[in-house]
Amino acid sequence: MKDAVASDFRPAERIESLGVSEILAIGARAAKLRATGRDIVSLGAGEPDFDTPDHIKRAAWEAMQRGETKYTALTGTAALKTAIIGKFERENGLTFEPSQIIASTGAKQVIYNAMMASLNPGDEVIIPTPYWVTYSDVVELCGGVPVLVPCAAEQGFRLGADQLREAITPRTRWLMLNSPSNPSGAAYAAEHLRPLLDVLLEAPHVWLMVDDMYEHIVYDGFRHVTPAALEPALKGRTLTINGVSKAYAMTGWRLGYGGGPEALVKAMSVIQSQSTSAPSSIAQAAAIAALDGPQDFLADRAEAFRLRRDLVVAALDAIPGLACRTPEGAFYAFAECDGVIGRRTPEGRILETDRDFCAWLMETADVAVVPGTAFGLPGHFRVSYATDTETLKTAMARIAAACRTLGEPA
Ligand code: PMP
Repeated sequence: MKDAVASDFRPAERIESLGVSEILAIGARAAKLRATGRDIVSLGAGEPDFDTPDHIKRAAWEAMQRGETKYTALTGTAALKTAIIGKFERENGLTFEPSQIIASTGAKQVIYNAMMASLNPGDEVIIPTPYWVTYSDVVELCGGVPVLVPCAAEQGFRLGADQLREAITPRTRWLMLNSPSNPSGAAYAAEHLRPLLDVLLEAPHVWLMVDDMYEHIVYDGFRHVTPAALEPALKGRTLTINGVSKAYAMTGWRLGYGGGPEALVKAMSVIQSQSTSAPSSIAQAAAIAALDGPQDFLADRAEAFRLRRDLVVAALDAIPGLACRTPEGAFYAFAECDGVIGRRTPEGRILETDRDFCAWLMETADVAVVPGTAFGLPGHFRVSYATDTETLKTAMARIAAACRTLGEPA
């Protein structure tokens, strides 16, 4: 039912340039079509299909039983910070004091806190492209200027040292690095990081925001290394971000964390204190169990993701007009679709852009994927393969069949 009284709501200027996340919009469109009885396969969302392990759920229940249902210390309980410090030490070779750690409502909030706490109007943030949509939108929301540096498939979707050097100006505050990457799945090995870190050593005014969310989802023996460990001289200006959402299948618990210089963390905590306060006490208890508990299932899950990656990459790459690089990690394939742009659909429409292609796949092939434009790199689309193999096979067959119906380029 429509409201009887017309609303004259005027959004704030700061959100004028921002749209609703295209990924969420595509998910909503898929849900709408599904409600009409259509069998839409959704490869849009970025979340593991696995369930949160039982020992983690149990820890949450036990915390509730103990009465841990109240506000906690602003940046996280002492017990959670101990677990986070242990994780950074054990898995990443990074040492932190509790005052250098902040736990927040998802890694997304850690990023938001950091940008809110550090950016003044006009400050620049270098973002290798394709990027996770939140990066550029949060920078804009905080008054900063995203400096998008295109990193094509030919360069492995990875930022090069020369590109970084050229992008740095006196206004640069941050470089954002995400490895393995959402959306490309590309990861930076030590040999890829080293030249970038050397550039940063020459630019002492530039800080480094590292997003290691997918560090446990890597394939073929890839060795994840985090920049602040590889180059300790940068640790004093690096914020290393992680969380339990992806590795432990805990997206709904909303718990992420960061480790960095105390002054930065303190400023971030000011933002957090006036937005959300501490993250959920129950999620914090669950995260302790995730970080301190058994880790053996991580390798099993990564292997399950690898099989799916192989299936999806091979299927996409075999479709005339599409090409797909093999990603080193995360659960996304980022395929080029330039070869289908400009072609005519059986309905008589010319596919002008990656957005057209993805919309057409949804409407006629019942598969939801996200256009590269949403991640800053047109001519591509992202497939999330965090779903079972049968579903993936169905989706790949549908995309292949749809592409076969396309006419020659106009
Ligand atoms: N970083 C990256 C690269 C992501 O893909 C995501 C989730 N899509 C996040 C951070 C945020 O994760 P959360 O807020 O659930 O911790």
